[in-house]
Amino acid sequence: MNLDRRPRGAWLAMAALVVAVSSGAISLRAQTAPILAGVAVTDITPPVGYAQYRGISTAVHDRLHAKALVFRQGDRAAALVIADLIAITPGLAMEARAVASAKTGIPFSNIIVAATHAHTGPEYREAMELYAERKRTRTSTAADEQGYLPQLIRSVAQAVIDAHAGARPVQLRTGAGQATGISFNRRFVLRDGRVRMNAGIGNPDIVRPAGPIDPEVNVLMLSAAGGGDPFAGLTVFANHLDTVGDTEFGADYPFYLEQALRRSFGQDFVSVFGIGTAGNINHIDVNGPPGQRGRDAVTRRVGETLARVVVEESTRLQAVRDPSLEVRSTFVYAPLQEYTAEELAWARSDSMKPLYQERESQQMFRRRKILSLERMRANGAATPPTVGTEPWRLPLEVQAIRLGEDAAIVGLPGEVFVELGLAIKKASPFPRTFIIELTNTNIAYVPTREGFEQGDYEAVNSRVAPGGGEMLVEAALRLLRELKDDPGPPSEAASTGLRR
Ligand SMILES: [Zn+2]
Repeated sequence: MNLDRRPRGAWLAMAALVVAVSSGAISLRAQTAPILAGVAVTDITPPVGYAQYRGISTAVHDRLHAKALVFRQGDRAAALVIADLIAITPGLAMEARAVASAKTGIPFSNIIVAATHAHTGPEYREAMELYAERKRTRTSTAADEQGYLPQLIRSVAQAVIDAHAGARPVQLRTGAGQATGISFNRRFVLRDGRVRMNAGIGNPDIVRPAGPIDPEVNVLMLSAAGGGDPFAGLTVFANHLDTVGDTEFGADYPFYLEQALRRSFGQDFVSVFGIGTAGNINHIDVNGPPGQRGRDAVTRRVGETLARVVVEESTRLQAVRDPSLEVRSTFVYAPLQEYTAEELAWARSDSMKPLYQERESQQMFRRRKILSLERMRANGAATPPTVGTEPWRLPLEVQAIRLGEDAAIVGLPGEVFVELGLAIKKASPFPRTFIIELTNTNIAYVPTREGFEQGDYEAVNSRVAPGGGEMLVEAALRLLRELKDDPGPPSEAASTGLRR
């Protein structure tokens, strides 16, 4: 039912606004239109034999999906679509958002495309960017168009289109539980003062974790406005999806999370999982037993632990107060990392001696990073300085969706250090702030300034320079405060979202 398009709804909204203004009410958010939401799922599993993160895929353990939540109220609409992928490339985000926006009318900038970070999904990233480039230059081939990549784009967009079409009046309820024993800060201070990622189970040189975790499990449950069991839920938790370690396709622990939630809420329940800021968080307990990988040893336990927290929380969820949909987005111009001509020559050559004393795997990531920075400069993804001494800049999109007085969703690009997400939550004017990373682009890690100083893997495998992460926090908080204070549609100045 499409109440929001009826003139009567618009008239009522107008009348209520007049009343609110003339009565001097503090809240001008006279939303009389009901809030609607829809959920939809599409299949994005490639054929067996397609590249997987760890090599050539050998089987499908469980199917990969794109899952979309669309929120609508009056003439406002927003979408969050989360795919079982290791990351979202700019080409995928751009194409899928353009298709979804054209088919639904949801503004391009109101669509968040995120990845769960499943390390058991397709390794499609390079191929997608090359394909997107061929599409842009109209040189894609017939074989391209029959392959997996256009299908992936279509499926991600279709999830949004279907969720939009199926949107119905809902009750939104939120909760936050705590999960312990399944996530750990994966960077450690060693005896010699260095910081090392994945320092090793039982390593006697470990003094302490270099940072915190975020044990909070954020839950958003959607049920029909009339009541009844929830038909869909969004769970956000900060933990890497790298618990499996084989070459079969699968969604990692969100698969077991959904299976378990279906035992409580019914077989049709759709569980949407969003990864919180987990750049430096994974499941490995350095004080635990050796191994700690595999579906039976780890993945199921992580998923079912989260499900237990969600089910427990579901008995004490709070209805979102004064549901009032609004979206803001902005671009942060983060400093891009610099590199020398010598470093570029080294990155391009396999034969040159390593420039730094570091693990071989890190040399590989450093090479890739430098080549990727060079590509970003060449293809316009990064913008050159207008003053010679300034750094190149990387435009990074930050998005925020207000669901009501006490709940909002934030989308951040990259694998963001947990401290940055915690800082947003702490200062957010919304008691329930869902922060989802890995949105819209593929920029690897976003450490804190401190993390950059400490160095090691995530600092090496990052594109933004120190300070970029803190800029994301500032931008997210600015959007959240705007959403908290601002009653009406975004002004031109406030809305700096991508224009089409
Ligand atoms: Zn990662």
